[in-house]
Amino acid sequence: MHILLMGPPGAGKGTQAANLVKEFAIPHISTGDIFRAAVKEGTELGKQAKACMDAGKLVPDEVTIGIVKERLAKPDCAKGFILDGFPRTVDQADALEKILADLQIKLTSVLNINVPAADLIARAVGRRICKKCGATYHVRFNPSQKDGICDTCGGVLYQRADDSEATMTSRLSVYDAQTKPLVDYYKKAGLYVEVDGRQAIDKVFADVVQCLKD
Ligand code: ADP
Ligand code: ADP
Ligand code: ZN
Repeated sequence: MHILLMGPPGAGKGTQAANLVKEFAIPHISTGDIFRAAVKEGTELGKQAKACMDAGKLVPDEVTIGIVKERLAKPDCAKGFILDGFPRTVDQADALEKILADLQIKLTSVLNINVPAADLIARAVGRRICKKCGATYHVRFNPSQKDGICDTCGGVLYQRADDSEATMTSRLSVYDAQTKPLVDYYKKAGLYVEVDGRQAIDKVFADVVQCLKD
């Protein structure tokens, strides 16, 4: 099962990807997570990525495509993957087509989580992530039992540097200009399915699984 998970920032891609990992035991590949790990390590890539992420802009295609190409060539991707947050531009989608053709992998489906722009800023600003295990919470919509502490591992929750209202405004306009055209791109390829991301997390997941079965 080779799945692309699409949707605007804050739509619930990471949340649903975590559920899919449990259900299908395939790797979750998030370009955002890869960049955040590089920022934490303080690598050259991390420095370049941080400047783009803090500004709410995309990391340049040539950098991002190279990273994804390397990751998808690893043996654990052969039987499936959930690619989250890539592609985000038409050039990335074209590059992905080539990468997958070389690996003789065919996409199963491109799943878009649809959430109106008006809801996305509140989702991002209230997002909290576990430092230790990466689990995602929301201060109102999906709170942890103890304030600031992860339910599953007891790790401390933090807020992403780019989850501010100002950065989200920029991320949302980047999404409209550069990523939204991929909806038509994958509709034409006959791979596109969409779920209503305004529903509760469990309900969205039920729809995601149903879409993948159909
Ligand atoms: P993305 O990976 O698309 O940016 P996340 O999965 O990190 O999105 O979700 C963004 C925020 O919204 C998180 O705080 C998450 O807990 C919350 N969230 C995810 N799905 C829903 C939902 N269906 N309803 C309400 N809040 C949600
Ligand atoms: P979200 O889904 O909430 O937008 P991500 O974790 O997917 O968050 O992305 C965070 C940031 O990482 C983006 O705003 C962008 O700067 C960078 N990024 C992630 N994926 C890509 C990509 N495919 N191309 C370029 N930049 C990316
Ligand atoms: Zn945790």
